[in-house]
Amino acid sequence: MSLDLHIRFRPDQGERMEEEKRVKRRIVLVPVPAQGHVTPIMQLGKALHSKGFSITVVQTQYNRVTSSKDFSDFHFLTIPGSLTESDLKNLGPLQFLMKLNQICEATFKQCLGQLLKEQGDHDEVVCVVYDEYMHFSKAAAIEFQIPSVVFSTTSATAFLCRSVLAKVNAEKFLIDMKDVEMQDKLFPGLHPLRYKDLPTSAFGPIESMLRVYSETVNTGTASAVIINSASCLESLSLARLQQELQVPVYPIGPLHIAASAPSSLLEEDRSCIEWLNMQKPRSVIYISLGSLALMETKDALEMAWGLSNSNQPFLWVIRPGSIPPSEWTESLPEEFSKLVSERGYIVKWAPQMEVLRHPAVGGFWSHCGWNSTLESIGEGVPMICRPFTGDQKVNARYLESTWRNGVQMEGELEKEAVERAVKRLLVDEVGAEMRKSVVDLKEKLEASVKSGGSSCSSLDNFVNSLKTKNFMQQ
Ligand code: UDP
Repeated sequence: MSLDLHIRFRPDQGERMEEEKRVKRRIVLVPVPAQGHVTPIMQLGKALHSKGFSITVVQTQYNRVTSSKDFSDFHFLTIPGSLTESDLKNLGPLQFLMKLNQICEATFKQCLGQLLKEQGDHDEVVCVVYDEYMHFSKAAAIEFQIPSVVFSTTSATAFLCRSVLAKVNAEKFLIDMKDVEMQDKLFPGLHPLRYKDLPTSAFGPIESMLRVYSETVNTGTASAVIINSASCLESLSLARLQQELQVPVYPIGPLHIAASAPSSLLEEDRSCIEWLNMQKPRSVIYISLGSLALMETKDALEMAWGLSNSNQPFLWVIRPGSIPPSEWTESLPEEFSKLVSERGYIVKWAPQMEVLRHPAVGGFWSHCGWNSTLESIGEGVPMICRPFTGDQKVNARYLESTWRNGVQMEGELEKEAVERAVKRLLVDEVGAEMRKSVVDLKEKLEASVKSGGSSCSSLDNFVNSLKTKNFMQQ
């Protein structure tokens, strides 16, 4: 149940308060229709709901969160005529996002207009919080004079990178990125990131990516930026970001610890928990590449060989379609099923948080999406980092060289290297050291979302800012 709050009526006009009204303050959330974006924005919704706000989630037609019992207090709206799954298949993720932003601007305006028309005297939309990639939202917020807030589902460092890349000389950058010798060099001003760690995209040409980045970091008329991160993870990047942006930056994460909100778009196969129950403590390597990354058949085979040779049990998430052209594992060479049958367990989608929390899990082989990174640190699980695209490369570099709880697998995927990495993490002393540093960080993260912690205070500051005159005027 959302709480009714007593707030001042038009405090921005400086008039004496004539009456106190019971008004439900509503926040409109606009997620990107992809698992890695939906999860944190729904958690943000939960966190804001716990502070007394009513929540409306405005979604596209593709990848909608259903109004489950976890969100029974939320109100859901769908933007009519937005893109579908087949558009995503035809366009690819980058073009899909660009097109979504073109076609949703007008329809989102209609949607928000309708919401405002229908709201009663006791309901007031106080702001629109949109995913940084759903920047079409700002036009409607401007038209209806509602403050808007950017929500970043990536790390502060990745945001900072996009902000730096949005300003580079595109021609020179293209030449540098094609130069093999540049790849291991540090990128100026973004230590410890090298050229090869920059969040370039595998989903389209660099020129399109730079265009998308400049839109995401153009906070323009937004009143604030919320980041799903914590100062114990990235204090320097957060400070720099605060200098770069003209508006307050609120690091309020990790949201999965602060406000859990199950919002899986795929069905979780819970049988893997029973399988984990039969394994020895910290013996299992969990492998998942998130919701979008793809793998080549030859890499899947090298993985299977390496995992099998490591003699460690493994739980492997293989999403249908993630090893094209195979539908799933049935059409992979026979050798594959022989290799995985002895010590492996394969599922199409796992209850990841529960898996990472399980005492049998000793390591996480990950593509290093920001949610998976936060979830792994939050459960004190060290990682083998095999980034695929975008900000995953930034996260992998930080895991290995800054937080020291991950080891990167670079270059061609070969069975010997897979075997070595798994043993290093689960058997060797170096793995034990990584576990120590990740447990340290886990404790810091937990403290940051507790009362008095930096992320908890930052959320309170954001909530308080919603009542101020400055915020309402931006
Ligand atoms: N996830 C899950 N089950 C799986 C694999 C992934 O629930 O089998 C969840 C995971 O917990 C995380 C999200 O999917 O919250 C993936 O987000 P991330 O940012 O790590 O990667 P993306 O999918 O955006 O590449």
